[in-house]
Formats: sequence, C-alpha cells, structure tokens
Amino acid sequence: MKAEIIAVGTELLLGQIVNTNAQFLSEQLAALGIPVYFHSVVGDNAERLQQQLTLSTARSSLIFITGGLGPTKDDLTKETLSSFTNLPLVVDRQAMENIEHYFAQRQRRMTENNRRQALVLEGATIFPNETGLAPGMAIETKSCTYLLFPGPPSELIPMFERYAIPYLQGKRADSSVVHSKVMRFCGIGESELETRLQDLIEQQTSPTIAPLAKEDEVTLRLTSRARSIADAEAEMREVIDEVRKRVGEYLYGWDQDTLEQVIISEFKQRAYTLATAESCTGGRIGALLTSVHGASDVFLGSMICYSNQVKRELLQIPQQMLEQYGAVSEQVAARLAENVSQMFGATFGLSVTGVAGPSMLEDQPVGLVYIGISHAGQSTVQTLRLAGDRESIQRRAAKYALYALWNHFRTGQ
Ligand code: ATP
Ligand code: MG
Repeated sequence: MKAEIIAVGTELLLGQIVNTNAQFLSEQLAALGIPVYFHSVVGDNAERLQQQLTLSTARSSLIFITGGLGPTKDDLTKETLSSFTNLPLVVDRQAMENIEHYFAQRQRRMTENNRRQALVLEGATIFPNETGLAPGMAIETKSCTYLLFPGPPSELIPMFERYAIPYLQGKRADSSVVHSKVMRFCGIGESELETRLQDLIEQQTSPTIAPLAKEDEVTLRLTSRARSIADAEAEMREVIDEVRKRVGEYLYGWDQDTLEQVIISEFKQRAYTLATAESCTGGRIGALLTSVHGASDVFLGSMICYSNQVKRELLQIPQQMLEQYGAVSEQVAARLAENVSQMFGATFGLSVTGVAGPSMLEDQPVGLVYIGISHAGQSTVQTLRLAGDRESIQRRAAKYALYALWNHFRTGQ
C-alpha cells in the first residue's frame, strides 16, 4: 500500500489555518504500518482538485482527502470525486436521518444545502460522523481507494479512530494487526531517556521503539505487528518491563493520558483535595486541572497571587519575608503552599513563584522558578532553572509543578 494525503481548503493555502489533519493522519498511518509518500494542499477549486486527483491516482493506492464535505458552495470534494470516478452521488439514509434529527432537536430550519451533507458516492463504505453532520466514506475503485473525511479535527479524529482504523485493518492482505502503545514520561529529557534506553532502541525489531519529545514531555511509542492484539501485547511486555526497570520513576501514564488526568484520578481515589497559589504561571495550572472532567472533586480552587499586595494581604505572606528573601524565593514558595492549603482547607497546597521574563525580577534571573508543595503541615520546595521565552517558561513551570506534585504524592516524600 502506498498512501498519500490531500487536504482541501483555501484557508490552508492562505495560511489562516495549519494542516494539522495531515499531521494527525500521517502519525496514525505510520503507527498502522502504512507508508505515506506525499502531502498535498489544494484550495476549494474543482479544477485544481481534479488535477490533484489525476496525479495522486497515478501514484498511490490509498488517497486520504480531508475537508470540503460541508454544506456550503465551496465544499466540493464529493462532487469533484464523483465526476472524476463517474460514480453518482446518492443519499445516505442514516446520514439524512441524523441531519433531520439534529435540526428538529434544535428547532432550527433545515436548508436545502444541509441535505447535501447526506450525499455519498454510490457504493461507498460510510464512516458515521458522531460529532458533526457530514459522514466520511471510503470509495474503492479499480485503481485505488479514496477515503474522505470532514475538515474539522473534532470530527475527523473520532471518525478515524472509530471507523477508519478497523476499515484499514480489514483491507490488509495478511491478517496481521499493527498495535501501538504509548508510554508517557515527565521530568526526564529526551536525550537522557534515549541514553538510558540506547541499547534497547538500537536492537529493536518488534516491537519498534520510537522516542518523541513533545510539549515538555517525552513519549515512547512501541509498535508491534502480530497475529492479534493479544499477541502484540505479549510481545511488548518484556520491553515494557525493561523500560520500567530503567526509567519507571518518570512514567506517569499511557496512550492518551495527561498528567492532570492522572493527578485528578489518583487524588480522587484517596479522597485528597488540592488548592493552588500561582504567581508567575498566572492560572495555567488551574486551567490544566479544570480541563479534566470531574476535577471539582479534587481541585478546590486557586489564588492567582501575581502582585506582592495579594501575596501579603490575601495569602498572608509577611512583608518582612518578602523584603528579606524576595517574592521569588524558596521561603515564599513554601509559605504560599502552606497558606493556600489552609485557606481552602485542602489536603495539598501547590505554589509557583518565579521569573517568567523577559527581564530579571528583584535581581533574580529569568527562568528561576520555585515550586512549593505543602501536605500535612510539611512543605518542600523545588528549584527550577528553565530556558525559553516567557510563554514557554510559564508553560513549563505549570507542567513541572504538576509533575512535582505527582512525584511527591507517588513517592510519599
Ligand atoms: P464543515 O462542515 O465544517 O464546512 P468541511 O468538511 O467542509 O466541514 P472545511 O470547510 O474544509 O471542512 O473546513 C472546516 C474547518 O475545519 C476549517 O475552518 C478548519 O477549522 C478545519 N480544517 C479544515 N481542514 C483542516 C486541516 N487540514 N487541518 C486542520 N484543520 C482543518
Ligand atoms: Mg466547509
């Protein structure tokens, strides 16, 4: 199988949006063991899309097309492919029912062009759209297979995972499955992780081991091709055990887990609660925690104590302490964590105070950040020296604070 991806949309050519769909599909296809040879972008223009289809059909057997399945005039992917393949457009009953139901439920008038979203190419395998209206589809012709997906990632991603993956696995000539597992690490850099696992990475055959650094964490993707998922998992087990032996202390989760989800769920199990006092991160930790459904059982609230006045008056940091040590200090970080946990009546208090830059603060260097954790009357402080611009220092400080909390809680220090 040779695959390629065509993203349709003038917005992409104008630089108004980024082609994240191609990135997502490529990553998924690599994990499925399907080689992708080309990415292309075409505007909302039937003639140029037709040219692209001619080119792609001559060189690839699987063609992924995203965008242009919507109701408006510029959405012309299906019409173009229909004339290109000589397959007529027909109404998909299930999709039409979904669209009618959607408008009836919202008591909104359905316009004629909404009905266009229920049109599919004759003979297509339909991928239902559970988060939108236009279904995706796969069309098999003599020369190749076209897979069509809606443009919005919120529709494309669930559709791909739920319907396209099983479809693609069903198309394999051999009956093997390709199964991947992602191990997620925090608190260790990519080069350190690679160094510790170097011999495993060099000897890899199946499963393959691919490290990737992304958004202040490192992941390791293990991929096995085997007769069944159970066989693939069995093959991975030995490698996973070895990885855990070497870097298990940094492993916080699997696959789609996030650090904030893991913290919320582990705290919930023990009926622990958390309050935060954020200075230089300005509420980012609170935003991360509240992105998790059900966070309110654990996360009580946060005080964004950006000014010294708020540190003093609301969080009761003594003026003398601010003068003697400075707002960015170990002492203030510890006291903020203690006081916020008391104020909110939380089991844990977490604080961050630091210099996000671009200039020094109270003679302290950019990137110096203290993280305070308070639990059961005891507090500990960690010192970070982060690199980067203001935005990345704030982002890293928030992420590292969550990591420090998770680590503290896990190791019971
Ligand atoms: P809709 O029904 O929303 O019109 P559509 O299938 O017709 O969906 P488009 O009109 O091409 O898709 O794009 C709709 C939106 O989806 C875009 O405004 C953009 O936000 C997002 N989108 C489209 N293509 C991509 C892409 N390649 N990468 C990331 N986002 C995309
Ligand atoms: Mg559209």
